[in-house]
Amino acid sequence: MNKEKSVLLVLTGGTISMVQDTHTGALRPADAAMFREYMPELLHNNIRVEILPFEPFIDSSDMSPHIWSRLANIIYDNYPAYDGFIITHGTDTMAYTASALSFTLENLAKPVVLTGSQLPMGVLRSDAKENLLTAIEIATEQDEEGNAIVPEVCIFFGEKLYRGNRTTKRAAENFSAFKSYNYEPLAVAGVHIKYFPHLIRYPDLRKPLVLHTEINQNVTILKLFPGISEETVTAVLNTNGLKAVVLETYGAGNAPTNDWLLEALKNATQRGIIIVDKTQCLSGSVEMGRYETSLNLLQAGVISGYDITTEALLTKLMYLLGECKNDTERVKQLLLKNLCGEITIDNE
Ligand code: ASP
Repeated sequence: MNKEKSVLLVLTGGTISMVQDTHTGALRPADAAMFREYMPELLHNNIRVEILPFEPFIDSSDMSPHIWSRLANIIYDNYPAYDGFIITHGTDTMAYTASALSFTLENLAKPVVLTGSQLPMGVLRSDAKENLLTAIEIATEQDEEGNAIVPEVCIFFGEKLYRGNRTTKRAAENFSAFKSYNYEPLAVAGVHIKYFPHLIRYPDLRKPLVLHTEINQNVTILKLFPGISEETVTAVLNTNGLKAVVLETYGAGNAPTNDWLLEALKNATQRGIIIVDKTQCLSGSVEMGRYETSLNLLQAGVISGYDITTEALLTKLMYLLGECKNDTERVKQLLLKNLCGEITIDNE
């Protein structure tokens, strides 16, 4: 008989933490007992599921770096006791939380799977049950030596398992709410769950899990658009305490060639503000220098974000600024490194 597996199921909130009362039709937050009532399968498998609910539940619009740290601490403190971890989460900011956790949990050797649903439990066509039960199966899947099949922070949603820091919410209504535009899914769950080991990252098992919860929030996103004014750009770049900017550019990383824009960016980088070029396109990579319109950015001291998502770039900046304190050069070096699969770059 197989050894009993165990998962810690952390319930943070979002739609998946709501139930629709079958009699009144009203939506209300579920508690741990309701989860078990609506998903009796949680008790039937050879898997011990311990439930840790947030009190109160939160809509994921209210997620914050403080809560990411809380989640990272929960995983760290319970790490030896479970085979895997599930975090149920609202879909709206799930990709930010997954990205943040991928940086805060270094040398992760067990699965941390975030999931949620588009429809609450108890609704006839709810996707909650399928998403959660498959996530649990994935989080406890091990090879013959007892090592996790997917030792990464992931998002499981709508039949696909994605690397968390490659994922973006793409649909407000569709059951396939997420997509990883620049990296193939790590697994696909049909009748069988098909894993793609060549896409999965495996840690050095001799290294212990290291927790990094020092986060610096002095970061912002500046999205370019035709007609953006000098006042807007200057106001953003002169934000008090600002340390880093995700500059959302066009296409392969291009920006207008106005002198005032390049001067404003150059002035900011010379003041030690880190500016990273991130394309507004969902797929593909920044290629600085391919067009004159991005060569100018390079000359202004802007660095390339390659094919990283906005969610991963923002959280990577917060994490690196927290870790490296005032060592801006170190932050810039690490931005150009693939730390945990967030970027396609060959210089690990
Ligand atoms: N507003 C909800 C949330 O992100 C939506 C969801 O759960 O899908 O918490």
